[in-house]
Amino acid sequence: MKINMAYELPNLNYEYEALEPHLDALTMEIHHSKHHAGYTANLNAAIEGTEMSDKTIEELLMEHKDNPAIRNNGGGYWNHCLYWDTLSPEPTNPSNELLSTINDKFGSMDNLKDELKSAALKRFGSGWAWLCVSSGSLSVCSTPNQDNPLMTGEGIPILGVDVWEHAYYKKFGPARGDYVDSWWNVINWAKVSDNFKEANF
Ligand code: MN
Repeated sequence: MKINMAYELPNLNYEYEALEPHLDALTMEIHHSKHHAGYTANLNAAIEGTEMSDKTIEELLMEHKDNPAIRNNGGGYWNHCLYWDTLSPEPTNPSNELLSTINDKFGSMDNLKDELKSAALKRFGSGWAWLCVSSGSLSVCSTPNQDNPLMTGEGIPILGVDVWEHAYYKKFGPARGDYVDSWWNVINWAKVSDNFKEANF
């Protein structure tokens, strides 16, 4: 619970170069220290001195999504927190509960990967593709810009891939699909499993 305090850019749990060669250090540094820092500063500027400064970030996304400054910067703040948290240089595995739900819903982990990649590739312009907990199960969806499924009620995101060009263009150029394939190599499945457990109450 955050009361009347500014949002802070979270520290990463790994170095910028730790995800090489899958995600490159320069992209990670710019993405975190410029883009995420920018959303954080603009979010703080938007809520400072208003009643919105008493809200949690989730309340802001759900209750103030019609305010463009909150939608774009609050979304950008939350979305990137999830993105960094669900990456890791260490190989990890999904929990039995998460894996069995993935198998039930999608047929296999490979099918989930195909479906999420397809959602990422179909997103025209900037946005995100998500794995969400919804209706007691899992679903894949995509949102434009810095929108988040919490804003639309589509679900609670437990994993998300940023498909803004700033997330991949330096290393992958226009090959968004290659970036998504590479991103799968550095997923923090332990964290995704925690998110699944927390969301799936
Ligand atoms: Mn981004």
